[in-house]
Amino acid sequence: MEDTVFSEVKKMLRFRVFCLISIFILTACTRDAAVPEEKVKKEKNEENIVVTADGKITFQIFNTVKVPQEKVESIKEELLDGYDDVQNSIHTNYAPSERINVFLNKGNQASWGLRSELKLYSVKENQYPLVHELTHSLLGYGNNFDSDMGYLTQEGFATYMEDKYGKQKSHSHKIMKYFFDINKTVPISKLIDLNQDDAYFRPPLTNQEEYTLQWMSYIHSVSFVTYLIDTYGLEKFEGVYNKEDLASKIEEAYGKNISEIENDWIAYVKESQTELTYGDKLEMRYFYDAAFVIDQIDPKYFTRE
Ligand SMILES: [Zn+2]
Repeated sequence: MEDTVFSEVKKMLRFRVFCLISIFILTACTRDAAVPEEKVKKEKNEENIVVTADGKITFQIFNTVKVPQEKVESIKEELLDGYDDVQNSIHTNYAPSERINVFLNKGNQASWGLRSELKLYSVKENQYPLVHELTHSLLGYGNNFDSDMGYLTQEGFATYMEDKYGKQKSHSHKIMKYFFDINKTVPISKLIDLNQDDAYFRPPLTNQEEYTLQWMSYIHSVSFVTYLIDTYGLEKFEGVYNKEDLASKIEEAYGKNISEIENDWIAYVKESQTELTYGDKLEMRYFYDAAFVIDQIDPKYFTRE
């Protein structure tokens, strides 16, 4: 009995080996017969490459999520337009990578803009923040895409650029007004404190409170940065973007200390913004979930010393 089973197994194994060989031969044959296929493949890959008009940057798109080619073509346009928009904004000492790989990924995780990689998610849903991530990749972040210079100016400016030129709107001032109204706001001094900022911008994301606090921190940063740019212009903002010792850089650039300028911003948002309408809240989809979670966040994150 055992033997029979054994021989059956042996037969199966032989069959498997045979299959493998036949697949191998088949593949080998196909390969031999289809030398031009390699060429076709290469040409196809080259179709997913786009070079900026000044020749400085080559983007290669990896269509991992397998969206139709027309979508890839429109993403190429978005990259070129986004490149121009960032070029026409502020200037930094950072020299971007000459080659940036753009991955169109499956799923709805957070997207990333790194030195030589853009990882975009929510592509099928058209909710990928391309301009935001491109801003990070082109202007630099910290010393080498790290948190050495904090998060506030970098995330604030990337979201400002997405608001202005991209497709994902943050509605930051209106939401900020809501935070002021319910008395749940984070002091800017905490958001720019290198000893505390990870808890706001890069929490471990193990629960809804952490996700919500991170979202709130991004809203604060984009609303504050938008206020600075709309009030004092891009040039002044250039002086504080991704800089060490941000509090003193802000004082230097704007002639006011951080709490004075924070108060100006708060007054501006309170006066200029109308309340979120029911329609606004529904449109945001996540609003009611977030509003529910805000009450559960540890109040220590909002206290002003
Ligand atoms: Zn970002």
